[in-house]
Amino acid sequence: MGQILVLDQNMINMIAAGEVIERPASVVKELMENSIDSGTTKITVSIEDGGRKLISVTDNGCGMDGEDLARAFEPHTTSKIKTSSDLQGISTLGFRGEALASIASVSQVKCTSRTKSQTGANCIEIDCGNKSDISPASADYGTTIQVRDIFYKLPARRKFLRTANTEMGHIAEQFTRIALANTPAGNKQGLDLTLIHNGRELYRLSDKDHLHQRIAELSPIPSSGISENLIEAESNEKSLHILALMGKPSISRTSKKFQYVFLNGRFIRDKFISHAIKEAYRGLLEPNRFPVVFLFIQMPYEDYDVNVHPTKSEVRFYNSNLVHSQILGCLREKLLGTDLQSHAVLPTATGSPQMQGIGAPGHRSEAISDAMAEFFKKHRPAQTQQQFSYKPKQQIVALRPSAGQIPESHTGAAMVSAFAQTSQPMPEIRSEQRKFIQIHDSFVVVQTDEGFVIIDQHALHERIIYEDLCKRIRKSKLESQKLLIPESFDVTPSDADLLNTNAELLEKLGIELVPFGPRAMAIQAFPTLLTKADPLDFVQDLIDLLGRKDINLDGEKLLDEVLNMAACKAAIKAGQRLTDSEIEQLLRDKVNAESASRCPHGRPTTIKFSISDLEKQFKRT
Ligand code: ADP
Ligand code: MG
Repeated sequence: MGQILVLDQNMINMIAAGEVIERPASVVKELMENSIDSGTTKITVSIEDGGRKLISVTDNGCGMDGEDLARAFEPHTTSKIKTSSDLQGISTLGFRGEALASIASVSQVKCTSRTKSQTGANCIEIDCGNKSDISPASADYGTTIQVRDIFYKLPARRKFLRTANTEMGHIAEQFTRIALANTPAGNKQGLDLTLIHNGRELYRLSDKDHLHQRIAELSPIPSSGISENLIEAESNEKSLHILALMGKPSISRTSKKFQYVFLNGRFIRDKFISHAIKEAYRGLLEPNRFPVVFLFIQMPYEDYDVNVHPTKSEVRFYNSNLVHSQILGCLREKLLGTDLQSHAVLPTATGSPQMQGIGAPGHRSEAISDAMAEFFKKHRPAQTQQQFSYKPKQQIVALRPSAGQIPESHTGAAMVSAFAQTSQPMPEIRSEQRKFIQIHDSFVVVQTDEGFVIIDQHALHERIIYEDLCKRIRKSKLESQKLLIPESFDVTPSDADLLNTNAELLEKLGIELVPFGPRAMAIQAFPTLLTKADPLDFVQDLIDLLGRKDINLDGEKLLDEVLNMAACKAAIKAGQRLTDSEIEQLLRDKVNAESASRCPHGRPTTIKFSISDLEKQFKRT
């Protein structure tokens, strides 16, 4: 006897729901998108218990009459496309006609709707696929959909729901994407949007918001005043309009969380676009940093296909090379034409390096190493064999004897030969005494018995701090001190959840956080060893790191990442002028550090140049 059965419609819907409805946030996305497609000007989203108990979305859009209301929850029912030709050039957010049917097959749904021309509203209830009749109701025009007890008949799916805070974090993220995509711009009207959780208002966004305002309201990047750190670029060529708000390197992040790409009002993820963004920032950021970018693309609907992914978050561009090159060109040109340094590396009046976000100095150090490498490459030809110009200068400082005992470390043989052949005069170093000199406020050149070494001041200091942190944390927790004024910062529910889950780690690090109002926390104590780091910046990057899903971090590995990050933030930056005694201290600490020749990221801290190599290069031997 045949084993194959035809599944009943409800089973089909439940299976389909698996693709579209992963968690409460997916419901919020689908319902908000339906509201936008209905031409609404105002959406109110009200959530209870992270969406496990209730997700309610109300709009003032076109509404549905009784007949449509009964049909909307059937599978494959849509008012947005009619024929296959409509599939080319979809201008609405939805078109697959399966969201409502999917949602109603895995939860209890009540939908009340009224068109503008009707005098009364209608209502329908569906309990995991079982539909009630349409009944009259009283409501304003527009639609309200309430979704209760998601997955309640599917224990296996319900079990996968995380804590209310985490689910709420996902919901807030979907809300944020839709809010950014629907900010008023040009002749496009914005939307009034409200998000409420357990009766508390999390966001109330006005349809009059400017993009900068909305970004500031939605992105809790602490203290930095995100608006001042965004560079705007625009281009309009070959029917592709690009508007980009690009974060300066100083507000770069440890994940791609703050890269938002919108295509004709739809949030998308696209590997070509991600690549273009990465390339645009090439050389401006350290490899493990990601820029903050808000990218709005407008292009003809016919130039791409949205029908490639059930949640429509991926699209297929018909000319992806053009999209890539135009985005890269627009972003790169603007970034290279902008002075990115000014705010990032200037010390404040008190001398504290508050504005020194991690990205900027890293970028500078990398840019300088790049520049040096470039310089070495260019001057490789051995046509000139000019001697060093020994012109002692005022800046040359005598090194105290103790600092002279620099251990030998990394030998950059290739660099040595390239450097030795340069036609440029070397940094002047007198021969009769041990000497050091800081160059470009970033490197320290030190004469040694065998020749000289060039030290990357940031990389070396980072290594020293890292080892110190490792030693101390192995013994017990880091010593911390109370901040004079606790520094507060905004948290999303999922941030708060992450911090809660990692309370032990925070304790070990000596970071004390306390709740500070409904959506904020305050840093009360901060590790003494990290006084050079900005507490807010540190905690924000820590949250990013804890929330990273692309790397599997736990226990030791996580701690190591955190210590790396801490060391990087607390270390002297490239571009920072050092006093003689600071340099001497650095050199003394170098002697004691276990593996000072490599920074925690694996880059060398020191490159050695030997006199015998130099002599060979100058054909003295
Ligand atoms: P799709 O959005 O892909 O068409 P859905 O299952 O999400 O499919 O919705 C089915 C249909 O229900 C829509 O095409 C639309 O006609 C109607 N609909 C859904 N939500 C609303 C709403 N908030 N206001 C008016 N009509 C709606
Ligand atoms: Mg839809």
